[in-house]
Amino acid sequence: MIPIDRSNQRKARNLCNAMWAKIPAERRDDYWPCYICERPVLKSKARWIHVIEGGGHAAEDTDTNINPAADMLWHPVGPECMRRQPALRRAAKQ
Ligand SMILES: [Zn+2]
Repeated sequence: MIPIDRSNQRKARNLCNAMWAKIPAERRDDYWPCYICERPVLKSKARWIHVIEGGGHAAEDTDTNINPAADMLWHPVGPECMRRQPALRRAAKQ
């Protein structure tokens, strides 16, 4: 499993809200919130990670003993966060 660094999330809250506010209401459906930074990510650019251990880790294909009680299922991640945390590429699906 790969640790997910979400430490930037709270600091970036104001910027994140501003980014969402700029998207016209009729285009909101084109975006998901990035799991890591909560900023809007175009659906076509998102990668998906299987979040486990209550939210702090991403599963790799080699992870077999996933605790179902702490399985947070799949979440989208934007290209910037994938770049900042390259280890997550091992866990990401299209
Ligand atoms: Zn992000």
